[in-house]
Formats: sequence, structure tokens, C-alpha cells
Amino acid sequence: MAVLTKAAIFIFNFTFLNICKMAKIGINLSTGSLQKEEIIVGIDLGTTNSLVAIMHPDTKQPIVLKEFDASSMVPSVVYFDEFENPKVGEAAKSFLEIAPDRTIFSAKRLMGKSYQDVKNNQSFFSYRIIDDNTDSMVKVQIGDKFYSPIDLSSLILKELKTRAEHILKTPVNKAVITVPAYFNDAQRQATRDAGKLAGLDVLRIINEPTAASLAYGLGLQKLNDTNEKVIAVYDLGGGTFDISILRIVDGIFEVLSTNGDTYLGGDDFDQVIIDYWLNKNGIPKDELIKNKSLTQTLRIKAEQAKKILSKSEIYEDVVEGISLLISKDNFESIIIPLIDKTIDCCKNVLKDAGLNRSQIDTVVMVGGSTRVPLVTKMVSDFFQTDINDSVNPDEVVALGAAIQADILSGNNKETLLLDITPLSLGIETAGGLMDVLIPRNSKIPSKASRQYTTQIDGQSGMRISVFQGERDLVKDNRKLAEFNLSGIPGMPAGLPKVEVSFLINADGILTVSAKELRSGISQSIEVRPQNGLSDNQVEKMLMESIEHAKEDIALRALTEAKTEGEQLLNTTEKFMVKNKNSLSNEELLLTANAMQALQLAITMNDKNLIQQKIEALNDTSRPYAERIMNEAIGKAMSGTKI
Ligand code: ADP
Ligand code: MG
Repeated sequence: MAVLTKAAIFIFNFTFLNICKMAKIGINLSTGSLQKEEIIVGIDLGTTNSLVAIMHPDTKQPIVLKEFDASSMVPSVVYFDEFENPKVGEAAKSFLEIAPDRTIFSAKRLMGKSYQDVKNNQSFFSYRIIDDNTDSMVKVQIGDKFYSPIDLSSLILKELKTRAEHILKTPVNKAVITVPAYFNDAQRQATRDAGKLAGLDVLRIINEPTAASLAYGLGLQKLNDTNEKVIAVYDLGGGTFDISILRIVDGIFEVLSTNGDTYLGGDDFDQVIIDYWLNKNGIPKDELIKNKSLTQTLRIKAEQAKKILSKSEIYEDVVEGISLLISKDNFESIIIPLIDKTIDCCKNVLKDAGLNRSQIDTVVMVGGSTRVPLVTKMVSDFFQTDINDSVNPDEVVALGAAIQADILSGNNKETLLLDITPLSLGIETAGGLMDVLIPRNSKIPSKASRQYTTQIDGQSGMRISVFQGERDLVKDNRKLAEFNLSGIPGMPAGLPKVEVSFLINADGILTVSAKELRSGISQSIEVRPQNGLSDNQVEKMLMESIEHAKEDIALRALTEAKTEGEQLLNTTEKFMVKNKNSLSNEELLLTANAMQALQLAITMNDKNLIQQKIEALNDTSRPYAERIMNEAIGKAMSGTKI
């Protein structure tokens, strides 16, 4: 530990102060011997900009990594020249207007998506998205080459990795990467795959709002502090807006609800400034669209104006005889409708979480666009509380990722930080019911097991079907995997004991195993998230579980009653066959009638009637069942010496 810190400090001396002490402490950089120091970086892979940060081993504060004279932000843009050589970041951004069909921006919007998911937004993208008529992941076509969103994101990650290595003068192989809270499994897996492709071992994928909260020290309380906090994280970036409500208890972050607009952000602020200038100069919009280079210039000027107006009262410039004048007041009045849209999302997110504004303890501001003072003011007015905006809003997510990385590296032993499962996980049981082993919002890593048995005498196999979702019937949930536990030795129904275990590791990967305890036979499977599941589907699943809650409960009760009834019919029949000589004719007749009535109730799908007939059959058989049992015990006793 001491060695680790020392060496790491050396790295910083070398980097920031440019003092080369290599010879003195005897570490040979060219052999990569510093690799064992295990630098874990935190990465904010943003839609507009990406950043990499680390925990400063000396100050114990997170810092974003940047070259001496450059910005810490890498624009999330990839340009391919005619030889397919990629350029990433600032160098690629300048090609957005000159070579729009070879310059990819917003690749993050395509992560884990099928063509079906994105086809309605095709006009947003200036590059070619391929419709291959399947549900598989989209591809982007450039010349005669195809790139997946994973390929594109990996190029951005590789650029960040290279920059970090250059600054730290040490190989960087491990990272924590952030994703929006609403990302589903497929999108998270795609992000992980992009990291792998970039040569990074992705130790953890964490939610952006969680990272932002960590950067404000929220949720970093010492162990055993059970203080509960509810926070709102307002994230207005370049092209997207997200609002999340998190509950933090005991260092565990739970996403209560998320809302937002995937096509609303700082770019829209720029657009309304351009519209304002065109209007003031009497230039029709169509005319501008024809002039590509002027469009590009105005876009750059508008972004500049916006940033200046975050600090000054007026912006003034002239381009090709067009007056680019705008005051802060003018700017604020034209962006009010856009900010109002975000406030509507804030209302919805509270409603979804079942909370009112006064229950929010803290509001955290994230994203470059929250530097606009009016945004901060309107959000603060809405939540009627002070807001956290002291940490640089473009860096706050990356800084939080670095804090998480530090915790994973074992440097911060006082903090316990856990993720939770977004949807319940379980298996299918008799009647197509969902039997939940790991409920929604469980801590990760997590383990659960339960015993099951067979329904039929001599049953030699058991099908284990794994599902994810909140509905009572598996047919309404999402199937993750299925396998057979075969080779169960022949036994009467109910005798085999099959233990099914679920284990989710820290990466959220689920291993399901089944073991028949008497014979020891076992089988297991690792569940990989499926591609092609859209945000809308996930949202729909959650909404449907709420909508259908009442009928689901009724259906579950009916299915359980039917299963119980069928089992009772089974055991009664076996008992009758075995003991028919000890039963009177009247008893036989009464039992047959009661069984018939129960069978009929099951066929009629009438839960109350089934329960009534179960009772009746039990009442009928109880007297002779007891008598026969007593006789058996008596016989056994008479053979025993007391
Ligand atoms: P993302 O999370 O989508 O990658 P960022 O958080 O980096 O995006 O936000 C980028 C947006 O922030 C851009 O629209 C940019 O113009 C805007 N922005 C950056 N600085 C300022 C500022 N000082 N004032 C207003 N907007 C800003
Ligand atoms: Mg962001």
C-alpha cells in the first residue's frame, strides 16, 4: 500500500511538474513495471463530450486529466478519412460540416439499439444508418465499410486511454465507465464491449447521476451511517436532458425514477440564437440552409455567444455583413420555452417516484448547459431549494467515476458502494408463474437460492427458465435463458430436492445453477443480456406491471389455487389406491364426489370455488386419513418394545 502511493506520487511529479525522478526511485517506464500500480481511470463517455479522470493519490481529490495546453473534454466525434483512418475529438469536429457523411457524432444514441429503435430519428443523423431488416444492432456505413456503435465508442475510449497514458506515463488498462440511468442491459453491455475493444478492462459500469452525486460527496458516508437522502440530478448536456431521482441509504444508490428528453440540450439553445439572428436580419431560414459554410459559422458563433452570455450582458459580432447582436435578456427570453420543457420532465419524474418537491433533500446540477444562469435559477425555483453547482458541471460525472474507481482499487476502505438490480429476476414455476429469487432493487453482488421439487412421479428432468420483470406470469416478462437439469434419478413426485441458485456478480452478470441435492447432479448457465431491447420496451414493462397489478394478483391467486387443487387430487388418488381396503364404500363414494367437484371447479377457473372444494375434499378425507394413520402408528408401536 505504501509502495503503491509512493510510486503513484512519482507519476504525478513526473507528469505535472515535469521532474523526472526515474533514476532515483528506479522504476523503468519502458518495461511497464508501473503497470502493477493498477491505475483505474473514471470515464464519462458522453453524447457530446467525453472525459477521463483519476483520483489524485496525493491530494485524495479526483481530477480530470488534460494535456497541459488543451481542454479536458474530448468531443465525442469520429471522422474517417478516405483511407478509413479515424480521427477522434477536436480534430474530427471540424469535419462535421465539410464531410457530414464521414463524421459520426452522437454515436452514444445508437448504443445497444436496433434499426427498428432508431428509424424514426434517422433525419437527425447526417451519416448513413443501415437498415438490415433485422433486430440486430444498427451499423453506420462509411464508404464501403460498416461500423457498429460499439466500434465507434471504442475509438473514443481508445483516444481517452491514449491521452491518459500519455499524461500519466503509464499503461492504463482498467476503467469505470458511466452510462445514463435509463440505459438498459443491452446498452450497458454494448458500453462494456466498447471498453474491451479499446483495450480496457471495464471494472464497473455506473449510472451518470450516481457518479455526479459521488462527486458531491453524497452517498460517501461512513459505514453504518443509515442516513437516508433523496436527491434529484438534473443533467442538461449538448443534445440530451436527463432528470433522475436517487435514494441513497447506507451507500447504496437506488434510482427511484428517471425522465428526460433525448432530443433537448445545449444544441437547441444554439439553434434558437441562430433563429433570433436570422429573424433580426430578415434572412429566411431556407436561404441559410443552402449556405453550408455560413450555417457552420453561425453555429460556432451561436455557441460562443451562449457561453459568453453565461457571464456577460451582451454579445456582438458581424459575419458576412450579418449583425450578430444579442443581449442576455433576449437570450433568456428565447430559451424559456426550452427550460420549461425540462421543468415539465421534473414534474413527471417526481410523480413517477411518488414524491413531492419538499421531499427532495438536494439537487445536483450536471452538464455544460447548466452553466446558463437562467437554467440554475429556474431549477432552483422549481425545487424551492438550494442547488449543488459548485463542481464543474462538465466534469462532475467523470470525477465521480474516478471516485468509484478509487473505491474499487481498495484505496477507500471506509466506503461501501453498491449497485442495485433494476428489474426482478426469477424462474418459471407451475402454471407459468414468475417465482422471484432476486427482487428488483436488490444490492449487487447478490445471491439467493430456493428449493423446488418435481410434479410428476419418475420425472427425470426439470426445465429451468430464467425471466426478468415485474409481472406475475412469466409470459408477460422477459425471458433471459433456459436450460434443462436432466438425469434426476426416478423418484415419486415431490421427493427430489432441486436447489436453484442465482448469483449476480459485481458486473451484473447472472449465473443460474440448479442442483438435485439427493443425487448431486447439477447444471448451470451464465446469463448474457440480450441485444435489441429498447428503452421503450423496458419502460413499457414497468408501466404494464403497474397497470396490470390488480389482474396479475388475481391471476396468480387463481393459478396457485389450481396448482394446489391439482396436487391435492394427485395425492388423494394415490392414497385411495394404496388404502382402498381400509375404506368403507361410503367413504370411497364421498371422496370420489368431492374429487369430482374439485376437478370441475378447476376446469371452471373459479378461484373461490376451487378453494372451497379443496376444503371440502380435505374435510371428507381427514377422518379416515387420521384413522388409517393411527392404525399404521399402532401397528408400528405394537412391534416395538417399550
Ligand atoms: P454531454 O453530456 O451531452 O456529452 P456536456 O455536458 O459536455 O454534454 O454539455 C455540452 C453542452 O454544454 C454544449 O451544448 C455546450 O455548448 C454547453 N456549454 C458548455 N459550456 C457552456 C457555458 N459556459 N454556457 C452555456 N453552455 C455551455
Ligand atoms: Mg453528460
